[in-house]
Parts: sequence; C-alpha cells; structure tokens
Amino acid sequence: MPEHVLVTGGAGYIGSHACKALRAAGFAPVTFDNLVTGWKEAVKFGPFAQGDLLDRARLDEVFAEFKPVAVMHFAALSQVGESMSEPGKYWRNNVSGSLNLIEAAVDAGCQNFVFSSTCATYGDQDNVVLDEDSSQYPINAYGASKRAIEDILRDFEASNGLQHVIFRYFNVAGADPESEVGEFHQPETHLIPLMLDAIDGKRDALTIFGTDYDTPDGTCIRDYVHVCDLVDAHVLGLKWLQDGKGSRVFNLGTGSGFSVREVIDHSRNVTNREVPYNEGGRRAGDCTKLVSGSSRAVSELGWSPTRSTLQEMIADAWRWHQTGHYSE
Ligand code: UDP
Repeated sequence: MPEHVLVTGGAGYIGSHACKALRAAGFAPVTFDNLVTGWKEAVKFGPFAQGDLLDRARLDEVFAEFKPVAVMHFAALSQVGESMSEPGKYWRNNVSGSLNLIEAAVDAGCQNFVFSSTCATYGDQDNVVLDEDSSQYPINAYGASKRAIEDILRDFEASNGLQHVIFRYFNVAGADPESEVGEFHQPETHLIPLMLDAIDGKRDALTIFGTDYDTPDGTCIRDYVHVCDLVDAHVLGLKWLQDGKGSRVFNLGTGSGFSVREVIDHSRNVTNREVPYNEGGRRAGDCTKLVSGSSRAVSELGWSPTRSTLQEMIADAWRWHQTGHYSE
C-alpha cells in the first residue's frame, strides 16, 4: 500500500503538480481542498477529500480516514495586491486555517510537515542577497501571513516535535509538460498567464505595474522557477523528513532575476507573437527585486532543477494555455 500524503490545495496550481510528482514517487496523494480557488478537474492523481481548513472537525475526519504519513500544505490565498486591500481574509484563511491544520496533524500523530512559504516574507531589501538566514520584513499581508505560519511551525516543533520543511518560493511559473495540469486562476493576477491571455486576445493588453523602480529598465525583477522543478523539491523535502534529517528552511529559486520587460521579450520570442502591453502605476505591496541568493536546496537536498529557463517555463505555460484549461 503506498503511503498517503495529505496535500492541502491539491486542486490548485502548485498542489496539483505536487500530486502528480508524489504519485510518480510512489506515494498516494490525498487532495484536501475547498474548491474556492481550486479545480475539481485538477484532482487526477489520488483521492479527493473536500473540506475547508477552517473546519477542524472535517480535518480530523480526513486524518482519521487516510492516516497520512505527512502533510504538504499548499492551500492559501496568495495574491499580493488583494492581501493589501483585504488583509483580514489573509490572516483568517492563511494563519487560522494553517493553525487548525497543524493542530489536527499533531493530534493525529502526523509529525512530518512540508510548508509552502514565500520570498515575500523577506520584503524589500535592496542589494541584499536573499538566503534562508536573511531577515524577514514582509511588506504585504500575504508575506506577513506566511511568516506567521513559519513561526507557528517552530513553536509546534518546540512543544510537540513537529518536523517541518519550509520552502520559500520565488516566482513559480510554467506547467506540466504533458499538460495534464497547469496554471488557471479565476481571476488571474499573475504575470505570465496574463501575458499569454493578452497575446492571443483573450483579454486586454497587459499592464506593466510600475516603470519607475530602481532597476536597469525600471520594472520589477523576479526569480522564476518551473513548477515541476519546484514540486520535485517537495518530494525531496518529504524524503528528508522521513529520513529524520530534521526541520529546515530552503529557498526555491534559480538565482537569476528577470524584469517584467525581459519576461515580455522572452514571451514574444517563444510565441512568435506580439505582446500587447501598456505602462501603468505601481501595484501596492510589490517589492522591487526578489532573487534567491541561496543554493542550499541544491547542496543539501540534492535538488537539480532541469526546466527552469525562462524560455522553457513560458513554452510549457503556452502549451498548457493552448491545449489545457479547466472549465470556468
Ligand atoms: N506584473 C505586472 N502586470 C501584471 C501582473 C504582474 O507588471 O498584470 C508584475 C508584478 O508587478 C511583479 C511581477 O509582474 O513585479 C510578477 O508578479 P506576479 O503577480 O506574477 O507574482 P508576485 O511577484 O506578485 O508573486
């Protein structure tokens, strides 16, 4: 019998790719999702348990039914802009929801926990190499909510021995090369899918959020990592915990930064189409530059990203965009 892993947010973008990777690695991923931002059609690689993290009784039922050996916790609200206008939503869903999940896991004796955190916990630190020991001063409620969950995990390690791997993602992009799952948010707020929509006329021109940043071309710089490489790291993180190597934080980025204008240029080259765009003001909560300065995941976990060139991420996203998609 393959071991169950409880994947919260398994019907979402990253969680669904994680389920595929877990199944390929011999685990049985159980998706726990409230389908508010996820898609039932994305649950293809193991059982589905519908539920909400704010419903502790439902969590207890699911732990009792599947007896997972570990939790991978992806379920979260993740839009920087929305977190600034509706912070309460972020503190309630992300922090209270995670606290319920952590308590349910500990009470069920499930002591291995893989958590998706974010580089947004570092905040805006000009000219600082962002490694796992960098200070964390988030400048938006999304980042603040994730940092709070990191703190909760540390407290539960101290009190109950909960072993956890925290992954701080940089910008996740791309899609399953076989287009079984991909990125599909409603509403969409992320740069690459919005750009692909604009390219094939599914929506109006892309707006560049801010051209007056202190960067070579004035637009924000991000470190993009392929979703398949990212979820491979999660499987390694799970094995790390099962091998008893203890709690650890890992950045997941490539160490290369691209500006919004550079992403537009690459998209033009990959798709051979013009990218309609205009220049707008800054979006609240955006950091100037977020690039990982760490290779800890490579040296300690043995992570070896193979698809994380901008070219390949956009090509995989474009293939999914043209052939995949869930019903709206
Ligand atoms: N961005 C943009 N126009 C858009 C969406 C995003 O210029 O319509 C910029 C955004 O300001 C940021 C980068 O693209 O600098 C990546 O944003 P995204 O929302 O994809 O990810 P985030 O960095 O917020 O996690």
